[in-house]
Formats: sequence, C-alpha cells, structure tokens
Amino acid sequence: MGDSPLTVPRVGIVGAGQLARMTLQAGISLGLTVRVLANSPDESAALVSPAVSLGAPTSINALSAFAATCDVVTFDHELVDAALLRQLEAAGHVLRPSAATMAVGQDKLFQRREAKALGLPIPPCRPVCGTADILTFAEEHGWPVVLKARRGGYDGRGVWVVTDVAEAGRAALQAQARGLYLLAEQWVPIEREVAVLVARRPGGQMVVYPVVETVQVDGICHEVLAPAPVPPALAEEVRAIACRLAVALDVSGILAVELFVTGGKPLVNELAVRPHNTGHYSIEACATSQFENHLRGVLDWPLGVPEMIVPAAVMVNVLGRPETGDLGARLPAALAVEGVRVHLYAKASRPGRKIGHVTAVGADLAEARARARRAAALLAGGLAFTDEA
Ligand code: ADP
Repeated sequence: MGDSPLTVPRVGIVGAGQLARMTLQAGISLGLTVRVLANSPDESAALVSPAVSLGAPTSINALSAFAATCDVVTFDHELVDAALLRQLEAAGHVLRPSAATMAVGQDKLFQRREAKALGLPIPPCRPVCGTADILTFAEEHGWPVVLKARRGGYDGRGVWVVTDVAEAGRAALQAQARGLYLLAEQWVPIEREVAVLVARRPGGQMVVYPVVETVQVDGICHEVLAPAPVPPALAEEVRAIACRLAVALDVSGILAVELFVTGGKPLVNELAVRPHNTGHYSIEACATSQFENHLRGVLDWPLGVPEMIVPAAVMVNVLGRPETGDLGARLPAALAVEGVRVHLYAKASRPGRKIGHVTAVGADLAEARARARRAAALLAGGLAFTDEA
C-alpha cells in the first residue's frame, strides 16, 4: 500500500508581508502549503514559502494567474482594487473574504457607513473635498479636525490632525497632490484604544477573542495588552459590536476591529478583514492563534477556541531605529529575557518600520509588559519604549 498524500486545499495569499509569513507558519501544522503572490522574492513571506508567484497585486494578469493555482485566495493587505477582485470572482475564483467584503475593508468611509447603518457608535465624520468642506465640518464639530485618507493609510500615514484653516488647507493640498480622498472626523479625547478579533466561517460559525488594549504613539501601534484592563461590561459591548460587524460584512477569516474609548464608551474607529497587528499576541496567549483561525475560517473548517490560556500577555512591536543595524547580532541578548518569544520578519530595518515583535506571557500585565519592553528594546537598540514614553 503506497502512502497517499493528504489532500488539502491550496490556499493562496495575495501579499507577502509579515502577516502572510505568520499565516504560513500556522499552515504548516495543518499540512497546508500556503502560496503567496509577492512583488519581489525578498519579501517577508516570499522568503519562506515554497510556492511563490511574483507579480503586482494591481495587475489582473498576475492576480488571475495566481488565483488559477489556488482553491481559495485570501489577502494580507488592502491594495487590490475592488473592481479587480470582482473580476476574479466573476471568473470563478473563490475569494475569502469576498470582493464585497474587501471593498468595505479598503475604505474608511465605507467602514463608517456600515457601522452607522447598524446603529453602532462612531465619531461624527464626513467625506470632504477641500478646505471649504473642512471648514464647514469644523464649524459644526469644532477644531481640531482629524483628516484621514479613505484608502491606503496605515501606521498613521494618511492621518492629519489640523487645528485651523491654514493647516486644513495645507493637508487638503497634500492629499490632493497624492490623489487621496479624505474623510473629516471629529477629534476624540481618547481615554484608551482597544481592539478585538472575530474569526468567522462562510457558513456563519464565529468565535470572538478577548478585548485588548492598544498603545499607539504617533499613529503607530507600539504595544498590545491582553486582556485589556477595562470593565467587563465595556469588553462585552466591544465584543458584541465586533460580532455584529462580522455578520453584516459577511466576513470569512479574521475581522479586526479597532475602537476608541471615550467617556467610558466605545466608538468604532477602523476595521481590517485580515489578521492584524493587534492579534499577534494570540500566537502565544490563545488556544488558537489568529493566523490559524484565519486559515480555518477561509477554508470553511471548524474554528479553534480563541480564549486566552495565560492570565496576561503583552506584545511589543520592534520598530526600526537609525541605530538598529544587524538584528541577528542583537537577537541572543533579547532571547536571554526570560519567557519572551521573538518574531522577526526578515525585513530590512528602517526608522519606524515594523521589523518584528516580541510577546511575553505572565501572571499579570505589568510584569509581562516590563519583560516584553526589555526584549524589544534590546532588539531595536536605543532606549526601551518605557524610557521615552
Ligand atoms: P491608521 O489607518 O493609520 O491606523 P487610524 O484611523 O487608526 O489610522 O488613526 C491612527 C491613530 O490616530 C489612532 O490610533 C489614534 O491614536 C489617532 N486618531 C485617529 N482618529 C482620531 C480621532 N478622531 N481623534 C483623536 N485621535 C485619533
């Protein structure tokens, strides 16, 4: 009797960044060979996938050829135009999430409209086309006004806080020069920022992760604290909001929802229909990581238990600094910090770029946070986040 290889579906990820890289890692224990569509062979996930297709995510030819090698196509970014996604679906390819779900995930205005239609709390906001529109918005909602690129922003790039007409004019011009459509939003006095993940199958099965606190500096997520130190009623409200969005958007795989807390109440900020930085802690801290549940969700397989298996976990991003240099040389010192797990993305270090993360699990948040910060600082070089915050 010959060995029959396991028959497993072919999953492909459009995009080959660190999210794809960690999804690949989760796929290994499920016997999956995850394919990636990469711009170049030195991208984070392309370096570790045995099935790399090279091509731009903006090219319908590259996308079609890639999709033809997959049973299910999923994504690690929002860069593929929704019109191209619809073309792929029309050609019979299975996209999870679907083109319709991705269209919402790509556009902050559509996200806000979905949330509003469900009656969920959001900051007052409106699409704006220039300085006059921004002024009208400011007259109604006051200064400062937060301007956001509807598409393509991340890590605070594409977010401007403007305090008067002159600043608004400058931001509007910059946005126009870059071909960006803007959303104006009321500036919120944020008490803390929280996030939550839902994993969902096309058939509807859904699991929801614990609510986490995210610590953002200049629009970049620096730390994630799990579970968020918030009242249980607030956490339950946040989880319920995320579940309603997952159903309304017909999500398959992971949905990440980021929220502001102001006056003790949540406001929905942003959605992502893919694994997310705020869920990296789940690799060590939860019974099933976000990456494994993304794969299970997009394959319509039973989802894994999302609950935490430790009392507390803290993830700290390793952001490149001018002095970072060779991460490999710094790694042993970071590994010497007890109980810390290091994830490096094999990306060249540039100031502010996410090049890895560390997670510490422990008995309480303060203690885990101290260890995670120490290890992240040893990796990045320079001062620990704690010293400069
Ligand atoms: P990105 O897509 O770059 O992550 P976000 O919309 O999440 O953009 O904004 C980045 C950060 O800017 C948020 O995490 C928050 O700290 C701050 N911010 C965004 N919107 C507002 C707002 N309306 N009021 C106050 N701060 C905001």
